[in-house]
Amino acid sequence: MKYVGAHVSAAGGADKAIARAHDIGATAFALFTKNQRQWHAKPLTEATINAFKAECRKYGYGPEQILPHDSYLINLGHPEAEALAKSRAAFLDEMQRCEQLGLTLLNFHPGCHLRKISESDCLKIIAESLNEVLDQTRGVTAVIENTAGQGSNLGFRFEHLAEIIEQVEDKSRVGVCIDTCHAFVAGYDLRTHKAAEATLDEFGAVVGFEYLRGMHLNDAKTTLGSRVDRHHSLGQGNIGLEAFTTIMRDTRIKNIPMILETIEPEIWSEEIAWLNVQACTGSEALAPS
Ligand SMILES: [Zn+2]
Ligand SMILES: [Zn+2]
Repeated sequence: MKYVGAHVSAAGGADKAIARAHDIGATAFALFTKNQRQWHAKPLTEATINAFKAECRKYGYGPEQILPHDSYLINLGHPEAEALAKSRAAFLDEMQRCEQLGLTLLNFHPGCHLRKISESDCLKIIAESLNEVLDQTRGVTAVIENTAGQGSNLGFRFEHLAEIIEQVEDKSRVGVCIDTCHAFVAGYDLRTHKAAEATLDEFGAVVGFEYLRGMHLNDAKTTLGSRVDRHHSLGQGNIGLEAFTTIMRDTRIKNIPMILETIEPEIWSEEIAWLNVQACTGSEALAPS
């Protein structure tokens, strides 16, 4: 079973996101549990928490179908102590918000070294951040997203993800989310069935599918290896449809939320329907190469 949906708006409160997911025919969704561009947020109210849980029950979404995303400001690999402490506190708050909402996954971007420390030192700090926060929370898995590798962001190589996981003490609560646009612009080819399969095989060998807790399904406006993160609608960018057919049919990928972060919310319902068809039809539906 693959759960398919999109990153929906939580405007008006986290509980408002759920009906929006249902409206587009999603069996999975992503959301921000606070404003993603601000450090501070008001605590979730009892009313919001109860409404969120009631809406999830009403529309049939379990925690394995929901992939909340943290704030873009957080850098768990920050080279400077004070800024690192601020990021760790903010990430702890994000994890606790997930706990309160009954959620079990939190998707985040690993961090950047700001050209002040080495890659391996930065990856070590990220792992230490996770150890610290996982120690203070229960039941929520930290899901590291691969990145496009813009600026000094780490996580653009599968090896980076593996190196972080290796240093996390509680491996039952660390996972990864593969974003197809990020992988492609970081240099992992996905343009044909064969290329996509080779990239998935490489992921399996370096990280392992047992750590795959979510995916972001995005086409790319930018080119292979460009390290520039610009999402596009499925089939309209440089990746093309065949990758997504391959992914939807891959039996190693199962029981995880697969989230569109594509650029036209108006066609999310069509994109979701198309992805679901790929998963359940015969090989004749595979786009010709
Ligand atoms: Zn993403
Ligand atoms: Zn992106």
